[in-house]
Amino acid sequence: MTGVKNLDLNRALVLFSGGQDSTTALAHALENYDYVETVGFVYGQRNKIELDCRLEILKALKQDFSKWASKISDDHLLDLSTFASLSNSALTDHSQVITVGETGLPTTFVPGRNLFFFTYAAVIAYNRNLGTLVGGMCETDFSGYPDCREETLKYLVLTLNHGMGTDFEIVTPLMWKSKAQSWELAHTLGGDALIDLIREDTHTCYNGVREELHDFGYGCQSCPACELRAKGYAEWIAKL
Ligand code: ZN
Repeated sequence: MTGVKNLDLNRALVLFSGGQDSTTALAHALENYDYVETVGFVYGQRNKIELDCRLEILKALKQDFSKWASKISDDHLLDLSTFASLSNSALTDHSQVITVGETGLPTTFVPGRNLFFFTYAAVIAYNRNLGTLVGGMCETDFSGYPDCREETLKYLVLTLNHGMGTDFEIVTPLMWKSKAQSWELAHTLGGDALIDLIREDTHTCYNGVREELHDFGYGCQSCPACELRAKGYAEWIAKL
């Protein structure tokens, strides 16, 4: 087709936040593609711990996982801090309490966040011939964020390809997995070493607590993200 840029589908760009899910998605990309870059976003999130974790995780993946080290390439960090000023979310407004809001969605919901993230990622990927966009979105999460749904991302990739004249693919390896299955996938991809890395170096807690290392990793143990992560870990361990 005229005007279509054929991108290399063996070159991936991973939306990498420093949390458990995007770290597992990154491991999946390293296992399945020849060349991998990462992108993170500063968008006024409640705590910046995840951003520090990102760099630690990338360093550890290069140092301790020889099968992946040569595939990990550039990391991009984009400043979208104006995004916070558009939104009224507990994830970006530190004074708000994390609870379930009027719409039935948690107050941590930032409307359209993943639409923005994938669109920015696609601009980077276009210029760097990265045909596969990878994210840790999961439809089976408690939260039901509409921008994490498979159908949303199916339409988004169509829109991006129509609008940019490209043939991107969006890949979400965790989409239909429970949290227990996400731990299992991480173990399949990177063994005990990746489980240790996820426990010690990733951050998922909405409250930014990193004081005590629990079985499932660091966290306050009471926010929805910690509860989900701890429950999934316990379920996975029980099945071993
Ligand atoms: Zn927590």
